[in-house]
Amino acid sequence: MIEVRNLTKRYRGGTAVDDLSFTVEPGRVTGFLGPNGAGKSTTIRLVLGLDRPSGGFARVNGRPYASLDRPLTAVGALMDAGDLHPTRSVREHLRWLARSNGIGERRIGEVLEATGMAGVARKRAGALSLGMKQRLGVAAALLGDPGVLILDEPVNGLDPEGVVWIRHLVRGLAAEGRTVLVSSHLMSEMALTADHLVVIGRGRLLADTSTEEFIAAH
Ligand code: ADP
Ligand code: ADP
Repeated sequence: MIEVRNLTKRYRGGTAVDDLSFTVEPGRVTGFLGPNGAGKSTTIRLVLGLDRPSGGFARVNGRPYASLDRPLTAVGALMDAGDLHPTRSVREHLRWLARSNGIGERRIGEVLEATGMAGVARKRAGALSLGMKQRLGVAAALLGDPGVLILDEPVNGLDPEGVVWIRHLVRGLAAEGRTVLVSSHLMSEMALTADHLVVIGRGRLLADTSTEEFIAAH
């Protein structure tokens, strides 16, 4: 479970996240929906402890992210594909993450299979298409077999096949009882993927409701 309570992030130029409160429940896909610049990535960075809030707090499984014992096993997160090492292979990326988190080689094979990347395991990350980089990010997020998954704009750069793949993957993970938060600026995509929607605009909560009810009301 993820709890966001009165979360606020001010920058010198303005307020990115403005007194935001919501809960992400396990066992369903929660879509985090809002236009570009709405504050989705900032909120996710605050949940992951990558940034400090100006006010309020976020907790994962009842604790601040920074105090989780085995963070990669508790929470898998896909941010952007920016922090890949271009000359290292797909497998090397996963091995590096696995080693520093006490995860075995067998699990690397499993996530390569689950993300359709077994065939490109030896390819350099710099030579991957944007879609494949996204898949590698998802593979990294799944590596610790986490109970909580946070995917920031996972379908960006994916081809139609990849978009459908992500949709089935996140729905399967939620069906297993995991907590799944997926951000997007696309209502059309969230209508097909999310059971529940947390909608924000200009850093503020606009709706926190089932996808069905949101569509019926708009
Ligand atoms: P989204 O992910 O919904 O597109 P962001 O969280 O990236 O939105 O951005 C929310 C707002 O915060 C935007 O207006 C953005 O320009 C601003 N912002 C994000 N990061 C910073 C930063 N480091 N310094 C100043 N402003 C920022
Ligand atoms: P199935 O039971 O049909 O394999 P699941 O609902 O278990 O489907 O999962 C859907 C997809 O996600 C499958 O491709 C599965 O391999 C993959 N998957 C599920 N859980 C994990 C996980 N923890 N790590 C990696 N991949 C996973």
